[in-house]
Amino acid sequence: MKIGFLGLGNMGGPMARNLLKAGHELVVFDVQAEAVAALVQAGAQAGASPGAIAASKVEVIVTMLPAAAHVRGVYLGADGLVANAAPGCLLIDCSTIDPFTAREVAAAAAQAGLALLDAPVSGGTGGAEAGTLTFMVGGDEAVFAQAKPLLAAMGRNIVHCGASGNGQVAKVANNMLLGISMAGVSEAMALGVALGMDPVTLAGIINTSSGRCWSSEVYNPWPGVVPTAPAARGYSGGFGTDLMLKDLGLATEAARLAKQPVPMGALAQQLYQGFSHAGHGRLDFSALVRNYQPEGA
Ligand code: NAD
Repeated sequence: MKIGFLGLGNMGGPMARNLLKAGHELVVFDVQAEAVAALVQAGAQAGASPGAIAASKVEVIVTMLPAAAHVRGVYLGADGLVANAAPGCLLIDCSTIDPFTAREVAAAAAQAGLALLDAPVSGGTGGAEAGTLTFMVGGDEAVFAQAKPLLAAMGRNIVHCGASGNGQVAKVANNMLLGISMAGVSEAMALGVALGMDPVTLAGIINTSSGRCWSSEVYNPWPGVVPTAPAARGYSGGFGTDLMLKDLGLATEAARLAKQPVPMGALAQQLYQGFSHAGHGRLDFSALVRNYQPEGA
């Protein structure tokens, strides 16, 4: 299949490579020339612009862009995908953006007779490289069925979440909970240690009791508890604090527009914002535990 791919960063680069590995023909675009050059070396063709890719007889176009403003620009501009894609071309946006923009861009595509799915992912750069991402997909069910085999070349769990925008809804709800649960586990671990508990014993109790969650079990923020967690390697790699902050911003902004109270989400956002402000935005988000540890711990 001939596929257009735009946005070849930490996530998009490996995702595009997995499509090449699955035998697809790729035409790629990124505003950074080095990102394009790396994919061309892997066997892709370079496209001149979003409009040029859309006009180049591709059957599907996948985008993996930083934020909503980039998605609007790439889809809705005069040289954008919607104005230039051939009828029948399927558009799939894998960027993490707010559900309102996702629905607005999908509506603009629909007006032009084009189907657009929102398909944000979880699984991080490791999942993008291994082709084991989870895709949360919003849009028409028949279009989802058409896209599923293609997404399977980049991911393992591919879930239809409902109408347009619902992929983004699932993503922001999950990540808001993740931000909250990591702050909660940090607070509980630090309290236990401050009161004299051994952290490994405490984590063992939590993980066989009702406080158990992914943040305590798989990704425990306390160093020495989970050997494979970022806490064991100085909080390098993993899911950056600034990316968590971005997702919490999307959740709280979507909540504001929906007039839905999210007091815990808003508090979590402020905790990560303070941590980023203190210069730790590039550390894995579980490093937030440092806020609860004594100086020099
Ligand atoms: P990134 O910054 O590494 O990559 C984004 C790429 O888009 C860059 O190469 C950039 O040059 C390119 N770009 C920007 N504007 C463009 C335009 N107008 N046209 C074409 N290309 C353009 O970001 P990433 O880590 O790959 O994340 C991409 C998306 O995936 C984000 O929405 C992010 O929130 C989401 N996400 C990231 C992770 C993660 O662990 N990195 C996990 C899940 C979801």
